[in-house]
Amino acid sequence: MSAHSIFSPSASHRILNCPPSLMLCSGAADQPSPYAAEGTCAHELCAYLVEKALGRDVKDPTEDLDYYSAEMQSCAEGYASFVMEEYEKARETCPDARVFIEQRVDISRWVPGCGGTADCIILSDGVLEIIDYKNGTGIPVSATSEEYGGNTQLMCYCLGALEMFDGIYDIDSVKMVIYQPRRDNISTYAMSKEDLLAWADGVLAPTARLALEGKGEFRAGDHCRFCRVKATCRKRAEYNLEAAKYDFKMPAELEDYEVDSILMMADRLTSWANDVKEYALAEALKGKEYEHFKIVEGRSNRKYTSEEDVAKTVEAAGYDPWERKIRGVTAMTSMLGKKKFEELLGGLTYKPRGKPALVPRTDKRPEMKNTAEEDFKE
Ligand code: SF4
Repeated sequence: MSAHSIFSPSASHRILNCPPSLMLCSGAADQPSPYAAEGTCAHELCAYLVEKALGRDVKDPTEDLDYYSAEMQSCAEGYASFVMEEYEKARETCPDARVFIEQRVDISRWVPGCGGTADCIILSDGVLEIIDYKNGTGIPVSATSEEYGGNTQLMCYCLGALEMFDGIYDIDSVKMVIYQPRRDNISTYAMSKEDLLAWADGVLAPTARLALEGKGEFRAGDHCRFCRVKATCRKRAEYNLEAAKYDFKMPAELEDYEVDSILMMADRLTSWANDVKEYALAEALKGKEYEHFKIVEGRSNRKYTSEEDVAKTVEAAGYDPWERKIRGVTAMTSMLGKKKFEELLGGLTYKPRGKPALVPRTDKRPEMKNTAEEDFKE
């Protein structure tokens, strides 16, 4: 297998944290997901709308997009407007600024055979900007990372773009932007070209070399979430089981600080246990036998064999089988699109207070004050 097919910028954060995961994952099958397919459609639409806004001759892909929806259209329009605003800003200082969409970039100077596709590159004298569209509704993706400053996927794209364009444009810094509309998340990070190249030479290249040789230290952490072997990885199991070995102390009841440490590991342990359960179910369905577990049918509710026949029968008996309900906010937004929804219904919606939840202090939401319990009762 060529290096090209296994080291991808999108997996770079995991590989830099756990180099041997690269070769381990290369032998494990990737699970196709409807979210990934939806993301591909959204990217196609985004690319089309930006190219169109730039006045380029492009074919409208909408009718071929399997997951097309009004929400996708509205998110892609938002992205296209954002790109155009960034482009206009760049043109204020550099009239020759240029936009490249879905641009292949190559970083084999640091990682043999490695390349990727940058959603959008805006080039101007001084700054190289990469804008990455994320379609996910899960965790907000950050343009920064604790260990390396920037998001490593975007840092890789910046390196590839520098390889192509540095020299044509006089670049001294790079700007990375994550645009994730379904989480209302726009995250930005800038760094100097010098720092980026120092990271590429001092961290990316040597770690990638180790990874491609199947060497380096296994290291478990949050990055395991995107690893193909996360359910069966021994290092991750050891890491989680070690965390679970709680050293209970006297007196009989836990102190507050002990409860605090258990909470710290609870989410991680739950997520790991769910990965293992999901994996084991898939294996059991393929025929694997586990000593203490078996497959049973889950609970199910009665269903109609034919809604049409049910309606006819109930009507014939003199009753109305139908109920008419207003669409919920999500379904209505999806029908109208975000913009129209706000225009028509912005003043007719409100946000009830959410149920109190205990979350890590690193969570970005503001803290509910001491009166949280009373507030909630009210
Ligand atoms: S699950 Fe985590 S520790 Fe195990 S190989 Fe994957 S990234 Fe490394």
